[in-house]
Amino acid sequence: MAKITFTMAKRIFKSLAGGPATRRYPAVPARRYEASRGHIEINIEDCIYCGLCSRHCPANAIEVSKQERTWQIDRARCIICNSCAEACPKDCIFTSNVYHEPVTDPYLVEKIQGPEPAPKPEKKE
Ligand code: SF4
Ligand code: SF4
Repeated sequence: MAKITFTMAKRIFKSLAGGPATRRYPAVPARRYEASRGHIEINIEDCIYCGLCSRHCPANAIEVSKQERTWQIDRARCIICNSCAEACPKDCIFTSNVYHEPVTDPYLVEKIQGPEPAPKPEKKE
């Protein structure tokens, strides 16, 4: 019992003397490493709108429209599991190690418009 009390007292003293264990983000920048999962990004120029990323997303965070050439992500739903990036046949989705800016609005849908398709070459007569 005495040992437990001593261990607890030691821990309490260490916590009090050591300062807070968390950072005052965003006032103090978040620590990030090469493998940190910050947020999902897309190179829309390479997207073929196959929808595989959307079908592999466990959080239903992605919507793809081949007709409109749009790719949409709900960042409030995304759990940054990387499943979409692993499923993408064009390797155009990737996880950036930069954290998303803090927000107050929970509606975080980001719709990205793809480029116009290249015009088809004219047939030679
Ligand atoms: S899986 Fe890749 S290529 Fe297919 S819609 Fe998603 S981002 Fe585009
Ligand atoms: S990282 Fe995971 S949760 Fe986020 S959009 Fe991709 S598959 Fe969905």
